[in-house]
Amino acid sequence: MSSETIEHSPLHILFFPFMGHGHMIPMVDMAKLFASKGVKITILTTPINAPSILKAIEKSKTISNINIQTIKFPCLEAGLPEGCENVDSIPSPQFVPVFFKGLELLQEGFEQQLSLLHPDCVVSDMFFTWTPDSTAKFDIPRIVFYGFNFFAMCAYECVRLYKPYENVSSDSELFVIPNLPGEIKMTRMQVAEYLNIGNWLETLTKFRESEEKSYGVIVNSFYELEKDYADYYTKVIGRRAWSIGPLSLSNNGKEQSKYRGKEASIDEHEWKKWLDTKEANSVVYVSFGSIAEFSDSHMKEIAMGLEASGKSFIWVVKKSKKDGDAWLPEGFEKRIEGKGLIIRGWAPQVLILEHEAIGAFMSHCGWNSTLEGVAAGVPFITWPVAAEQFYNEKLVVDVLKTGVSVGVKRWCLFSNVDDSVKWDTVEKSVRKILGKEEEAEEMRKKAKLLSRLAKKAVEEGGSSDLELDAFIAELGSLRG
Ligand code: UDP
Repeated sequence: MSSETIEHSPLHILFFPFMGHGHMIPMVDMAKLFASKGVKITILTTPINAPSILKAIEKSKTISNINIQTIKFPCLEAGLPEGCENVDSIPSPQFVPVFFKGLELLQEGFEQQLSLLHPDCVVSDMFFTWTPDSTAKFDIPRIVFYGFNFFAMCAYECVRLYKPYENVSSDSELFVIPNLPGEIKMTRMQVAEYLNIGNWLETLTKFRESEEKSYGVIVNSFYELEKDYADYYTKVIGRRAWSIGPLSLSNNGKEQSKYRGKEASIDEHEWKKWLDTKEANSVVYVSFGSIAEFSDSHMKEIAMGLEASGKSFIWVVKKSKKDGDAWLPEGFEKRIEGKGLIIRGWAPQVLILEHEAIGAFMSHCGWNSTLEGVAAGVPFITWPVAAEQFYNEKLVVDVLKTGVSVGVKRWCLFSNVDDSVKWDTVEKSVRKILGKEEEAEEMRKKAKLLSRLAKKAVEEGGSSDLELDAFIAELGSLRG
C-alpha cells in the first residue's frame, strides 16, 4: 500500500480477548465503541468463541466496521478435551493450569494474522503475555487490557513490591498496603500474593514484564470514579493509561443486541413484569459472576439468609434443573413465591440492574459486575471470591463507601471457596443495605451520584469520551 493510501485508510485495531466471559464481554463492548468512532476493527478469537461475539455485535450499527477472524486453539496438543476453548468449558479444576499454558500455543496463529492484517495497533488481554514479543516483530504497538480498575492495578503493584503480608504474624492481623493512597487495610489470607496458589507471584511478574514492553494500558473505568488511583498509576507507577468506561454504558442504544456473553435464561417480559410490581430500591440482585462455584451447603446459607431478610430478591444460580435441588432448603421455592425470583443459568444482568426496583447488588465484585452496578447507581453487598475481587471490595466499601461487606476471609482459586459466611450475616447485610437508616440512605445517595458521573463520562465530551478520542488521535499520529 502506498503511504498516501495508508494515510487515508481508517485506523485498524486488532482486539484479542481472553476466552472467558469476564474478559470477552468488555473487550467486545470496547471493539464496538472504537468502531462507532470510525475505526476498523478485527476481533481475533477461536472458532468456538466466534458465534458468541457475532451475536453481541450483529445488531450494532457499526457492524460493517467489525470483522471476526479465528485461529485454531489446539486443545488436544495442549492436553485439553476437544472444544475446551473457553474457561467456561474447563471440565475440572486440574485443567485450569493446562488451559492457561495452552494459551501459548496461540502465538503462531496470532503472528500469522499480524503478517496478513498488519493493523495499526493490537489490544490484547493480559493473559497473552507474549503479545509484545509478537507485535515487536511487526513494529505494531501493543496495548494491554487487564479488565481491572486503577485501584486494583495499583494495589497489586504495591503489594508485589513491598510484600506487606510478611510483616504480620497471624491470618487475622491487618496490614496497610504501603504507599497506596487511602490507608487500605487487608489480611494476608485475602491477598493472592501471600497464598501464592498456582505460583501467582511468578505470573504477576510476567504480567508486569509484558506490560513494560507494551505501549500502554486501556482501562474499563472512568476518571471521576478513582482519580487518586488513576493518577497514582500514571504518575507514580509511571504507565501510560486511558480510561474509557464504563463500557457497559457505551453501547446500550436501543438498536444494540441485548446479548452479553450468553443467551439469557429468562424472557425479558417475565423478569420485567416481576420487577415492575416492586417498589423502587426494594429488591436485592444476587449474582456471583460467570465462574465462581459455591457448594450446596453454602448456597443453602444464602437461601436461608435471603428468606430470613424478608426482602425481595433476584438470585442468579448457575445450577440447572438437571443438577438437582440439593442446594435448596426444603420447600424454599414455594415459600418465597412472589418474594424471590431465581434465574437458573444466565441473567440479562445489565438490563436488570438498570430497573428502578433494584436497590442493592450482592456481588462477588468481579470488576465488570461492579462497574455495571456503579453505572446503575446501586449500593453493594460485597462477597469477593478470587482474582482481584478482594481489592475491588476495598474500593467499593472503603473508598467509594457504597457497600457493606459480608466479611469473606480467604481468597481462593476457582474451587474450595471460603464458605464461612452464614445465613444470619446474609440476612443482616440485606436488611441493612435496603433499610431506611442514615448509613443506607447515604450509600444510596453516593451510588446515584456515581451513576450520574459514569453516564456523563461516556457522553460526548465526557472524560472517557475525550480519553478515547485522544487515544485514537495518538494512534493516528504514530502512522507518521
Ligand atoms: N453476566 C451476565 N449474566 C450472568 C452472569 C454474568 O450478563 O448471569 C455478565 C456480567 O454482566 C459481567 C460478566 O458477565 O459483564 C461477568 O464479569 P465479572 O467481571 O463481573 O465476573 P467474572 O465472571 O469474570 O468472575
